[in-house]
Amino acid sequence: MIHVSEKCTGCLTCALVCSLSHHEQCSPSLAYVRLHADGSRWRAEFTPDCDECGRCARYCPYGALEKEN
Ligand code: SF4
Ligand code: SF4
Repeated sequence: MIHVSEKCTGCLTCALVCSLSHHEQCSPSLAYVRLHADGSRWRAEFTPDCDECGRCARYCPYGALEKEN
């Protein structure tokens, strides 16, 4: 997965979508994508459990995530 920090607002939609689809709970702490504040930007980290399903990218409202080919 590719994260474009310039477009990211830190809204956490990606983490909610991931935790909902993999754990049936809206809880960013269970998500396989983690957002970290890095100065004025947000940085995304994917845990080893990320299966690259691409759902987080599909629902990111700002086009800040892309699935790698
Ligand atoms: S859904 Fe998109 S804009 Fe929102 S935190 Fe995730 S990557 Fe950033
Ligand atoms: S690609 Fe799928 S498993 Fe990986 S962080 Fe996004 S929603 Fe979660």
